[in-house]
Amino acid sequence: CGIVGYVGSQSALDVVMAGLKRLEYRGYDSAGVAVLADGQLAAAKKAGKLVNLEKELAERPLPAGWTGIGHTRWATHGAPTDANAHPHLDNAGRVAVVHNGIIENFAELRGELTERGHELASETDTEVVAHLLAEEFSATADLAEAMRLVCRRLKGAFTLVAMHADEPDVVVGARRNSPLVVGIGDGEAFLASDVAAFIAHTRSALELGQDQVVELRRDGVTVTGFDGRPAEPRAFSVDWDAAA
Ligand code: GLU
Repeated sequence: CGIVGYVGSQSALDVVMAGLKRLEYRGYDSAGVAVLADGQLAAAKKAGKLVNLEKELAERPLPAGWTGIGHTRWATHGAPTDANAHPHLDNAGRVAVVHNGIIENFAELRGELTERGHELASETDTEVVAHLLAEEFSATADLAEAMRLVCRRLKGAFTLVAMHADEPDVVVGARRNSPLVVGIGDGEAFLASDVAAFIAHTRSALELGQDQVVELRRDGVTVTGFDGRPAEPRAFSVDWDAAA
């Protein structure tokens, strides 16, 4: 339902949690975050309102990190439980992904992954993406390329945002039939399903086009089509009306 991603030099957890709060008005049934710290991913997720996640974070704090993603879920596949909340991780815990929308061919992909020895821990359509990204990353060592390869195999509507422990200062996003906007800051960058998530930090934005992948780094963003060709997303400035 709501998605936030961050790379920069602020606490990723603080930026992501504040962004999720700005998206609360859309409604949701669960929430979760993941941060990348010291080459490891750490995640927390809870069914219910953001306050439940805040309580969990107070009891089991995540290490400080400068790259992070977060999600508020509106369940379509699998009940609103802690296990089904996003982010979803691969079996090695090296990739984390959040997702809005529906992966229509998830059952088929899930069957293929199970045959290859993956163990899926949730009932969501989303989790297959974490496992597929892990496989493609081990072949390419490039998360944006892994995302392009995975997206070409997905059917349905999706906004996806992911990070990998082996690419510590990178967040990657992708979209098809579901919105994704990029916020460009000074030495930092944001990804969100809605500009409301990052207007406290920047008004300089890019709107991702259909079937595009964005790679976010502190010093800039790169956008390509799912086919790998360079793309020119629409740049715009968020005005106060949109911020209200
Ligand atoms: N289909 C996914 C799920 O049920 C994502 C739902 C959403 O857009 O929040 O977990």
